[in-house]
Amino acid sequence: MISPVQAWVARRTGLKERLTAETLKKWQMEKVKETIEYARGNCRYYAERLQGVDTARLEWVHDMQDIPFTRPEDVVCNPESFLCVPQREVSRIVTLSTSGSSGRPKRIFFTGQDLEKTADFFACGMSTMTQSGEKTLVLMSGATQYSIGDLLQKALSRIGAEAHIHGNVKDVQRAIDAAKGFDCLVGVPAEVIHMARTDGNLRPKSVLLSADYVPESIIKDLVDRWKCRVFTHYGMTETGFGGGVQCRAGLGYHLRDADLLFEIVDPESGRQAVPGQYGEVVITTLAREAMPLIRYRTGDMARMLTGACFCGGILPRLDKVMGRYANTISLKGGEGLSIHKLDEVMFAVPGIRNYGAKLIVSDRADVLSLTVEAVQDLDSSRLSSYIKTNLACSVDIRISRAQVSPFTGAAKRHICLERR
Ligand SMILES: [Zn+2]
Repeated sequence: MISPVQAWVARRTGLKERLTAETLKKWQMEKVKETIEYARGNCRYYAERLQGVDTARLEWVHDMQDIPFTRPEDVVCNPESFLCVPQREVSRIVTLSTSGSSGRPKRIFFTGQDLEKTADFFACGMSTMTQSGEKTLVLMSGATQYSIGDLLQKALSRIGAEAHIHGNVKDVQRAIDAAKGFDCLVGVPAEVIHMARTDGNLRPKSVLLSADYVPESIIKDLVDRWKCRVFTHYGMTETGFGGGVQCRAGLGYHLRDADLLFEIVDPESGRQAVPGQYGEVVITTLAREAMPLIRYRTGDMARMLTGACFCGGILPRLDKVMGRYANTISLKGGEGLSIHKLDEVMFAVPGIRNYGAKLIVSDRADVLSLTVEAVQDLDSSRLSSYIKTNLACSVDIRISRAQVSPFTGAAKRHICLERR
């Protein structure tokens, strides 16, 4: 089955049977021009920032290289300066904590129409893994209107599927009991793997793991334990939650091309990468009302895959996101350590249900202190030598045993940093 995302793009762009990678790029560039005009005419940030940009000269994606980037810091500094509609038309404001030195949160605004588009994309994305008459349990927040759970529920009802919102996994056993009999589960990787390693008897047909990075070790183990298909999704609040979703072939994300333009740029030089080359994911929203973002630097590391997908899809896809540039901590030995790399290694150990990580940096040495919740006794010295070998880092490792809640709420998983 060709990814339903392709048919959605064909419909939403109006390109229908004329849809190719080329016609899509042309269509997207027209939308980029409209977005620039709209943003310049309606918000302070872009009125100043894009003053000199001549939209008539924007013909190919390559021409976008002259347009300045929007950085997350710009949004943190003054989110209201991005606002293109009166406050009363804002339906939802998402406040995100940031790791920046200012510690100020980042705020993203949406109108009802913006979130309607998200629900429309979710309906298409979910039809990859579930269908009419089936039941989905959403292990994410959904109590408030326009939360991810709420949007998923709306989306699923449009394809005739039923959805129940459980919320994030705070009590693993309760979540397991709640998940019995569901065809599809949607959740956060560390929380879902905790469930699977507590009870291997659930039999959902499909599981959607939603986060910016999903370790291969988690996917493999979920498939082994629950005998299900595992799908991952790419998106962040700034993309309007949805950004791309895997098809059944599982290679790369089929992208939300009707609402977003994706570029990959060299994080140092800012030049566009050639197809297949890794770089930073940069997004431009194509019809966002409340808060358009133009050439927004996501900080995520990935590359574009060109050529047909195994599913028969013809549009370029985004390859698996390899983590975030900013989350890589430089160690004394010169190596980089990130939560993504660590998740990959730690969740590959079948006995580990969950863990927490703290890096203690001092003049003398870097020490990685890991609190591990395991199903059975694990030999600490064997475990630490396994971790050291697989991380290929010169860091000292300390392991302690304790219960670690999988629940991260709205926060992303991270390595705590302590300087001594
Ligand atoms: Zn595909």
